Amino acid sequence: MTPEEFRAAGHQLIDWIADTRSTVESKPVLAQVQPGEVRSNFEVNAPTELVGIEDLLTELENNIMPGVTNVQHPMHFGWFPSNASLSSVLGDIASSGIGSLGISWESSPALTEVEEVVCDWMRQLVGLSDAWHGALNDTASSSCMVAMLVARERATNLVQNRAGTQSVETPMRVYTTAQAHSSVAKAALLAGFGWDNIVSIETDPRTYAMLPEALANAMQADADNNMTPAAVVASVGTTGTTAFDPVGEIVEIAARHNAFVHVDAAQAGTAMLLPEYRHLWNGVEGADCVAWNPHKWMGTILDTSLFYMRDVDLLNRIMSTNPSYLMSAADGQVTQYRDWGIPLGRRFRALKLLFHLRLDGIESVKDRVRRDIANAKWFEAVVASEPDWEVCAPVDLQTVCVRHHPPQLNGSPASTEQLNAHTLEWVRKINRSGDAYMSPSILDDQWMVRVSVGVELTERHHVERLWGLMQSAVQPS
Ligand SMILES: *Cc1c(COP(=O)(O)O)cnc(C)c1O
Repeated sequence: MTPEEFRAAGHQLIDWIADTRSTVESKPVLAQVQPGEVRSNFEVNAPTELVGIEDLLTELENNIMPGVTNVQHPMHFGWFPSNASLSSVLGDIASSGIGSLGISWESSPALTEVEEVVCDWMRQLVGLSDAWHGALNDTASSSCMVAMLVARERATNLVQNRAGTQSVETPMRVYTTAQAHSSVAKAALLAGFGWDNIVSIETDPRTYAMLPEALANAMQADADNNMTPAAVVASVGTTGTTAFDPVGEIVEIAARHNAFVHVDAAQAGTAMLLPEYRHLWNGVEGADCVAWNPHKWMGTILDTSLFYMRDVDLLNRIMSTNPSYLMSAADGQVTQYRDWGIPLGRRFRALKLLFHLRLDGIESVKDRVRRDIANAKWFEAVVASEPDWEVCAPVDLQTVCVRHHPPQLNGSPASTEQLNAHTLEWVRKINRSGDAYMSPSILDDQWMVRVSVGVELTERHHVERLWGLMQSAVQPS
């Protein structure tokens, strides 16, 4: 494709994207396809005939889009918001269009330095001190993986440079809670800690936040038993209920054992743009690294995940590779992001944040975040005021966990199993219809439903409509 052909086709693609976005509300939220249905729209063998952009866009519309769950839909209340602001989409297109290669500073000085600049802007916008240095990773899961590798190496004085983890005799322990995201256990497992050494610390029965005394006791008991308390992962906004582990107390306790602290603020980091919510991560300055996702609530399209580290020298000592073909005269004066994690090649992700901040501006993001919190609070209040409904966890930000628990189901008092079946039935009825989408989730061994408010297009009237759908879905059919 020549640049002139690209220009013509590109205009059509942009028009198609704009049309798709402006009509999203007329589509079902959940993709209405069966497993295998999208695949069956395609030939088994690779195509040999060429088509024009018009035909390709028709194929996109007819064969692919029906299989896309519309997370940009204002009635999407599932998982967490995965906002993809159109300004950041333009940044993504610019990044792709430039086609640069980030494998060293020299391979694209701008890629490296703009990433440093936007990470520093974002650091200031969430009120972190200048002791932190940032990078853009693909996801918070990858950042947690890096954190666990650094924690392991710090606890062993860089055993990778000797005989590796296989030579470590005292078990290294990682502490988190059952409410932590699944990526935490995955990272700890992949970093070699092992299931037996992932310690699940008790949480407060009301707030679901880590109990600091329980952490202190567990770490001390392990130390007394000749084990190494290596790392704590504190969740600032858990995935289930958006619970906030007490970071300040956690870092103090961890310091007694020189344990590494990673703060996973993947979703709730966006709220730290608002000074009035920063108390929710009080003490964060005492942690070793922090990750949060502009690609969730803030709305800088995937994959835009911020990773901040205090001791970059340590990180670089663990991650650096310096083969001769990557050496350059600038070494020592510049940041080499390949030494911050696992991948070598790097996309120009910073452009997504640059475009988002320059074209939409942070004030519009903050206004939207405040709107979403107000909508969630409104929803919490109406649910709590209905006798047969319950709000299952504190609503600090934008996720409201609810359960419908009528005193009787089918004419007799409901058992836990019947209530579970009832919950799954009403939520699946709504989800399947395509009218709205929510995530059922297990809390205290019982099903509940997470209503996660925060899609860019979601206004109060959408939340009101959802409440109407929920109230009719629980009626006996
Ligand atoms: C979403 C989420 C993650 C995972 O984020 P990815 O960027 O998709 O890896 C991790 N932790 C928490 C608390 C999350 O909400």
